[in-house]
This record gives sequence, structure tokens and C-alpha cells, in this order.
Amino acid sequence: MIKIKTKEEIELMRESALIVSKTLGMLASEVKPGVTTLQLDQLAETFIRDHGAVPGFLGLYGFPNTLCMSPNTQVVHGFPTNEPLKEGDIISIDCGALKNEFYGDHAYTFEVGEVDAEIKKLLKVTKESLYVGIREFKIGNRVGDVGYAIQNYCESFGYGVVRELVGHGLGRKMHEDPEMPNYGKRGRGKKFQEGMVVAIEPMINMGTHKIKQLKDGWTILTADGKPSAHFEHDVALVNGKPELLSTFKYIYDALGIESDEEEEFRH
Ligand code: MG
Ligand code: MG
Repeated sequence: MIKIKTKEEIELMRESALIVSKTLGMLASEVKPGVTTLQLDQLAETFIRDHGAVPGFLGLYGFPNTLCMSPNTQVVHGFPTNEPLKEGDIISIDCGALKNEFYGDHAYTFEVGEVDAEIKKLLKVTKESLYVGIREFKIGNRVGDVGYAIQNYCESFGYGVVRELVGHGLGRKMHEDPEMPNYGKRGRGKKFQEGMVVAIEPMINMGTHKIKQLKDGWTILTADGKPSAHFEHDVALVNGKPELLSTFKYIYDALGIESDEEEEFRH
């Protein structure tokens, strides 16, 4: 069942989303060769608690950490480890926070030092596909319209769209209805309604869309060993249109990136 949010609830969700956005912004300056993902995890946990929230993933379904850390060929749900990041790596950092009984859930794939042009392009296209999908989250559309738009965009570059893992409704639970696949057919699936809040999160592989899972029961990797990218925003449907609750602004401020990509989703 889709849980529609009131205006007041959406404001609380914005607060939770922004704590995650600020956490990712703080991490942006720390992601560099030599740092371990476990060190980043500890920084994030402290930062979230200092902001009056609780890490949203810690203990969720038994996950042992604050961040999902998925480098290079890992798609999502990787664990923080003691292995240092290396020049040329990419690292998907997915972070959740719980405040005022509402979750924020938001992810960015960072470059570690200088990254190959081919991989940079995968990141660029995956992030663009996130906005291509968000643009379709509006009154009159259905779940399949978002998935179709993301799939069509990414496949036009020859990339693989992961099928087994999907975006989702967000609220008092981390995963609410509806599921938001990154593939689909136009005009299919549940209808969007005013007051819905969803996490849209394309997981896009440079090669095949096929994945495998490690024996740890969590870590998802590409089946062909090629890199994978992941970006996620929290979005509310307000006045018939998508409104971003999360922002990459803090990341861009930390990295000195100029961008107006989020402007059309603020009103
Ligand atoms: Mg997430
Ligand atoms: Mg999510």
C-alpha cells in the first residue's frame, strides 16, 4: 500500500534527506587514495548522530554498518572494509538516516583521484539518468514511465540496467510501496499520486545488466567484472511535480563542482 505524506511529513522527510546529503558532502572531502571505507563509515556514523539522527542502515535487515560501500565492480550493498581506496577507483556510497521517525536514503558514486575516461562517462550517464527518471515522476504518469525513461537513456549508451534491485517508496519505513524499477514499460504500473515520496536510484553497469551476489549474503557485483555506478535521490510529488528532498549541493561544494542540474526540481 502506498503511504501518502502530508505537507508536514514531507518537511520532516526533507530534514532526514538533508542530513544524508550533508553526510555525503562531508565524506566528499575524505574520499581519496589511502582512506579505508571503514574509516569513512565511522566518520559518517558520528556525523549523523551529531545531527540528532540515527544511521538508517545500521541494523536494518541485520546490516552491520552505517554506509553501504560498493567499489568498482560492486553494484550495491557492499560492506565497509579495512582495504584502502586506490587512485582510479570509484566508490558508491549509499547512506540512510532516521530522524523524527522518517528516513532519508541517498547515494553518490565518487571518483578516487583520477579515473579513466570510460568510467567517468559511466558515472555521468548514470547521474543524468537519475534526473531523466525523476522528470517522469509526476501526476499523470505511472511507475513504468520512470523505469522506461531510465532504461531507454542508459541502454542508448550500451550500458546494462540492473533488474534485481530497484528504487522504492520512502517514509516511516526505509522501503515502502511502490517498487521503482529502473526499467519498464510506458504507462504501466502504479499511478503516481500527490504526496508520494520515493527514492529513485539507477544502478547501471558498464557491461551486462547481470549481477551476482557474494556468499556474505549482501554484496552485489556485476556478473562480467565491469564497473557499476549508482546515484540516488529522495523525491516528493508536490503540486503535481517532482520536488527533490535530497541534494548533491554539499558534495559539489566540497569538490568545487558547479551545477544547476537540480534547479528544475525545486519549487
Ligand atoms: Mg540508498
Ligand atoms: Mg534506496
